[in-house]
Amino acid sequence: MKHSILILGGTGEARRLAGRLADDPRYTVELSLAGRTRTPIEHPVPVRVGGFGGAEGLAQYLREKKISILIDATHPYAARISANAAEATKRAGVPMIALRRAPWQRQPDDRWTEVSSIPEAVVLLGEEPRRVFLTLGRQELLPFEAAPHHHYLVRSVDPVEPRLAVPYAAYLTERGPFEAASEKALLQEHGIEVIVAKNSGGPASYGKIIAARALGIDVILIRRPRLAEVPAVDSVEAVLDHLAHAPPSLWLRGE
Ligand code: NAP
Repeated sequence: MKHSILILGGTGEARRLAGRLADDPRYTVELSLAGRTRTPIEHPVPVRVGGFGGAEGLAQYLREKKISILIDATHPYAARISANAAEATKRAGVPMIALRRAPWQRQPDDRWTEVSSIPEAVVLLGEEPRRVFLTLGRQELLPFEAAPHHHYLVRSVDPVEPRLAVPYAAYLTERGPFEAASEKALLQEHGIEVIVAKNSGGPASYGKIIAARALGIDVILIRRPRLAEVPAVDSVEAVLDHLAHAPPSLWLRGE
């Protein structure tokens, strides 16, 4: 009998994990996306798109699809879906594991200030106009309208629509990964003085952190949200190892 795996995705790790499991005859694998990006990258397994309708919707989905294990490989800032995953697996009696990449660690030359929220980052930018690079999700940009005196460079996967109601903003529509050398050139080209970003961890968006360190640029990092306490590992290899060594009882439905 094949075991049925549901991966909650939206990250490079989720895609890589799906690639590693796709041809394994022991598993059938489905990957779930929220549907935020207009043209998601291709995945090596069947993909479903859209919310489940909260924790109960997801629990229902796990029951109906007879999912054997749920792997939460969503982004470390996607707190709601991770909370739903924890609750839904409890309700449906399905085992789960989270794949959470480790946060970046401050290095000696980093000029980081950590804040708890985006509005806090807006205040920290200060009264003097600064040239600011924003690498946040489209939905998270609105608080910057409260500080229209800065010059913003905004980078996102999909175009920001509508544009921010600020007089000085330029937009880049690009998907990572981003290398340190090109990030450095970008920061210099736009005369960036401060970056506002999440501590996403992993290599794909670390280039700007390396570049900021080299150029002595300030970085305002939004702290990670607190996530539900569930069994968690920090690499694709560790998930595979977990699956390989999971006792058979793990695969038995709890209901
Ligand atoms: P979120 O706030 O935790 O989730 C909001 C709602 O979106 C959830 O309640 C769920 O709707 C739906 N959802 C989220 N992820 C889903 C998934 N993989 N499959 C199906 N439904 C999903 O999430 P978010 O921060 O908006 O992130 C959305 C997606 O973008 C996630 O998959 C995440 O991995 C990816 N992503 C997020 C970030 C970030 O900075 N937040 C960065 C890169 C990629 P229902 O309650 O209706 O099920």
